[in-house]
Amino acid sequence: MLSYLNFQDKIEKIKNGSLSLTENINYFLKRIEENKKLNAFNFVFEDDAREQAKIIQEKIKSGSHGRLAGMVIAVKDVLSMKGKPNTCSSKILKDFNAVYTATAVQKLIDEDAIIIGRTNCDEFAMGSSTENSAFGVVLNPVDNERVPGGSSGGSGAAAAAELCDASVGTDTGGSIRQPAAFCGVYGLKPTYGRVSRYGLTAFASSFDSIGPFTNNVEDTAAILQVISGKDEKDSTSANLPVPDFINNLSFNGKKPVIGFAKEYFGEGLSQEIKKAAEEIIEKLKSDGFIIKEIHLPHTEYTIAAYYILTTAEASSNLARYDGARYGYRSENSVSLLEMYKSSRTEGFGTEVKRRIMLGTYVLSAGYYDAYYRKAQKVRRLIKNDFDNAFKDVDLILTPTTPTTAFKLGEKSSDPLEMYLSDIYTTSANLAGIPGISIPAAKSSEGLPIGIQLLANQFEEMKLLQMSHYIQQRYLRKDPEMNSG
Ligand code: GLN
Repeated sequence: MLSYLNFQDKIEKIKNGSLSLTENINYFLKRIEENKKLNAFNFVFEDDAREQAKIIQEKIKSGSHGRLAGMVIAVKDVLSMKGKPNTCSSKILKDFNAVYTATAVQKLIDEDAIIIGRTNCDEFAMGSSTENSAFGVVLNPVDNERVPGGSSGGSGAAAAAELCDASVGTDTGGSIRQPAAFCGVYGLKPTYGRVSRYGLTAFASSFDSIGPFTNNVEDTAAILQVISGKDEKDSTSANLPVPDFINNLSFNGKKPVIGFAKEYFGEGLSQEIKKAAEEIIEKLKSDGFIIKEIHLPHTEYTIAAYYILTTAEASSNLARYDGARYGYRSENSVSLLEMYKSSRTEGFGTEVKRRIMLGTYVLSAGYYDAYYRKAQKVRRLIKNDFDNAFKDVDLILTPTTPTTAFKLGEKSSDPLEMYLSDIYTTSANLAGIPGISIPAAKSSEGLPIGIQLLANQFEEMKLLQMSHYIQQRYLRKDPEMNSG
């Protein structure tokens, strides 16, 4: 067990000499070794981490440290780090090393975080269980017979199993929130445009976002604070001021109005998860919060729209992996065309190939209007639903997932079943709004249950304040812990 509550506490303990960063790094490296069978990491940077620990320990002592000094962070293997492998858990990039560093990762490094390694994930972030990885499946640390969720399953497992202080993942349709819910940690997907995507290997460019997995809301706020902001290298990053998340975690005055949408509590939702969400709603009511019923009438089209639009974007983004310039090249070809074909056939896994084919189909001349254009229109309707809802409420509370973590292999042969595990998370990416999963309860089998909060664009502050309230009031058991 770690002896500190959150990153601020950790820095204090290092300052007053009760914690050494070297010992702390050794602790995490030992945990990683002991939990090797989880397969959460594709690469661990032992030497770099030890070296950084020494340097940053000194910086903390002399008071010249950055805002995340000594926070030990694992990074999903889709975010570039110069000179390090960036495999996207794919055979096609198995031997590829990044030539520059992603802005979000650089910002963590600049604030003296220690990057301990690169986490396993579904190939090119396509999946909901981390079973589609060229590096093998990741096990859920709570129950090793179950999946950790996906696609950032390694990041979720690493944060939950105490292999690091926090981790960073990506969320295109739920890949931060869903594994956070399955593993029992906090997972935040920021507003599209809040965090630069420069150096993130694209899956679906108009959906992809980068965010943290943590064990507490304070660390979530701290990481979001650091990685947010305009970046000249990503024209879709928003030129808006970044609020002071870290120092504003308590409500100042007015309590937010919380929306409840029946569409998120319908068929397919596990009774236990429904009950857990309703219990939180009841508690909030008795604490004086106003809960308002809202309607999100196009919810039933989210999965269809999501899988049409993201596969279309993926088919275009993944066209660059052709064996000609970098990455895997098949040796069994005589002509150029054959080389492209066999490199892609041998280099990509089944799910990635399924999506490239689906995406190519919905973009093809005869089907473009029927599928791609129609899905774009539906995306607008879903966004309008949220615009209307946020006229009446500040936040929307939903389950994060319809079920708790499922068994390994349980859904592998049925892609549609697998896609349905994203039923409550894809809407935020379609609308570009932020969302957080809070580890709110445990099922009768002891499996984590996540509750999702959604807010309007660029209103992460509201998400963080409400999550902090829920954490302090309902989830932190030790009264000592309530001072964080
Ligand atoms: N599970 C979803 C998918 O497979 C979401 C993936 C993600 O957010 N990267 O597309």
